[in-house]
Amino acid sequence: MPDHTYRHDPMTGVWVVVSAARAATVRRDPGSLPELDGPCPFCPGAESETEATIAAHPARGPWQIRVVSNRYPALRPEVREVPRFTRGHARAAVGYHEILIESREHTADISSYALDHLVDVLRMIRERLAWLESRPGVRHVVVFRNRGVRSGSSQPHPHAQLAAVTVDVPEPRRRWEKAVEARRRDGATLLDTVLTRELAEHDRLVEVGDEAVSLCPFAPRYDHEVWVAPLRARGSFSAAGDDTLRGFAAVLQRAVRAALEVSGRCAYNLVWRLPPTSHRVDPAAFWYVEVIPRGGTTAGFELTTGTSLVAASPERSASAMRALAGQRARGTGAPSDIL
Ligand SMILES: [Zn+2]
Repeated sequence: MPDHTYRHDPMTGVWVVVSAARAATVRRDPGSLPELDGPCPFCPGAESETEATIAAHPARGPWQIRVVSNRYPALRPEVREVPRFTRGHARAAVGYHEILIESREHTADISSYALDHLVDVLRMIRERLAWLESRPGVRHVVVFRNRGVRSGSSQPHPHAQLAAVTVDVPEPRRRWEKAVEARRRDGATLLDTVLTRELAEHDRLVEVGDEAVSLCPFAPRYDHEVWVAPLRARGSFSAAGDDTLRGFAAVLQRAVRAALEVSGRCAYNLVWRLPPTSHRVDPAAFWYVEVIPRGGTTAGFELTTGTSLVAASPERSASAMRALAGQRARGTGAPSDIL
């Protein structure tokens, strides 16, 4: 019986539609990386083509990871005048927008990084996030990664972005409302409630590691979406310990590989789900990362309903990802901790 269900996402309170009958309409175009008009400003030797370095790893010697302000920022820290006619309806777009150049290698990506390097990247994200969360007036910090044209990226060199906003924004707000409501109702953090169910049901699990778990969410917003969540760490990503980050990095790397291979796409977004800065140590606070292969369309149904229509059943996606991991583990002779 093909999957044909409304499914409720506890993180957002939104019903999505999973319709396997739509599979025949899904584009098979794998997508591509963006092309630059000139030399890459993120490659070693082109440092003068970006804004000044905010942070680098290692702190001395040739950088392996480098953080700069976005040359084309959505938000700026300095206050600017707004046009007279917008007074009352507009405020200066005060905030921060940083680019974290993840590697010296133009063609590298998360799936090809040495694990130690990915851990260093996550540590740098943690460091910048902690700094941005502590800035006065910052309501939300968003962390994301765009890869490939279909993800919205204009830059092929691997990089992550952090943006800090000083106004309320809807997606983190509605998620926080659900987190608080669930904590009050269940006496447990919403992520724990979700993970307890997923670990019991097994169907959507991709991998269970010592520190982190990857799974295809029950009510996905995109085909072959994967969540990577810490098993125990709560609060904000900025408070994650080194052991958590190391275990998380390994599961994240395999989740990205699996999501791209099963979806047949090269474009994807990583999205960090984080609590509002003012509630980052609240008992209801948690974090996880979504891996979202991109290439589908947002058409009239999504625009009119505000919800998602996906063709790939998450149970089938997870099963395909587990099979892939089993093949890989057998191929290398490594012990498999994939379910
Ligand atoms: Zn480059």
